[in-house]
Amino acid sequence: STVFVSGASGFIAQHIISLLLEQNYKVIGSVRSNEKAEHVLSNFNHNPNLTLEIVKDLASLTAFDEVFKKHGDEIKIVLHAASPVVFQVDNFEKDILIPAVNGVKSMLNAILKYAPQTVERLIYTSSIVAQFNPCGENEKGMKLDETTWNDATWENCQTNAINAYSASKTFAEKAAWEFMKKHGNEVKFKLTTILPSYVLGPQLKIDLSNGKLNLSSELINSIVHAREESQLPTLSSRLGYFIDVRDVAKAELLAFQKDECIGKRLSLTSGTFSIQRILNVIHKDFPELNGKVPVGAPDLVEESADDIFDFSNEETKKALGFEFIDFKTSVDDSTRQILDAERKN
Ligand code: NDP
Repeated sequence: STVFVSGASGFIAQHIISLLLEQNYKVIGSVRSNEKAEHVLSNFNHNPNLTLEIVKDLASLTAFDEVFKKHGDEIKIVLHAASPVVFQVDNFEKDILIPAVNGVKSMLNAILKYAPQTVERLIYTSSIVAQFNPCGENEKGMKLDETTWNDATWENCQTNAINAYSASKTFAEKAAWEFMKKHGNEVKFKLTTILPSYVLGPQLKIDLSNGKLNLSSELINSIVHAREESQLPTLSSRLGYFIDVRDVAKAELLAFQKDECIGKRLSLTSGTFSIQRILNVIHKDFPELNGKVPVGAPDLVEESADDIFDFSNEETKKALGFEFIDFKTSVDDSTRQILDAERKN
């Protein structure tokens, strides 16, 4: 059957598309420009089972109308992964909040209008930050699981980029669940949401032509290239949960393949991590970086996210039924890919 993947050029979406093609699905993806389309098609060696459509502006409430007018009678599964993942912006509403929320609404409206009885499953990629407010108070022992929500409001979230991004994921996910309450009877599809924590792991095809990777992958890239302590990135321990991108892709497919996943929020976390723990793995496993990358404070006993929160994703693990990739493997594979790509250049 045919799967529609929005934001086909993205870090996570590339892995999703790769798995879909491997499992013989037909894939229609959306990208913002012809340049991106060319790039994505060449990443998949112009696989005939992959076609792309241009959707320029997520902020438009009719963004996906054309796609569903054209392909509505064949699309059975929708994986909505396009959303701004950018922290350096001029305007939180215009650059983050509105495209995130309207992206979901325009997808839902297009299905309601043009494919209410064809689309069977919709998977929305939300985020762990829709489960809690990462810039909120330091509530020790706060319970986080598949039922908890970020309490941000449209007004109070616009203080910094992390808050605005987190709220954008929350409002967008809520819009999807609210749509189901309101229009669930008028459409055939069932909803599942995926809530990844910080996504690490290799790119499907690495492109370091501008020196930078997507926001979450840039964390390890910037550590590999740090030459002084002051160049190391920082990360609040409240954000210190991770998942490997290959597991996110696997979960996105199982989310529509397994009936147990219908109506669920799947919270993807393999464990906790920190910048120091990335440094420790890199220094042990990549001796060529010793003496180049700062060591930080290898023996520092840090506060971890698990010291702050009472986190559980047991329901998710039960529904998905596979073991998540561990931290060392994820860091090693990301680092090795960057070093190999640079050796080739
Ligand atoms: P990327 O930045 O690699 O991908 C984002 C995708 O969305 C790209 O295809 C991008 O297009 C597209 N996009 C962004 N803004 C717009 C816009 N205004 N209009 C149209 N398209 C847009 O990020 P990820 O792959 O990491 O993220 C994919 C999804 O996963 C997002 O919804 C994100 O919120 C979610 N997520 C990511 C986590 C992470 O740590 N990486 C953690 C939890 C959730 P283009 O290539 O043209 O920029």
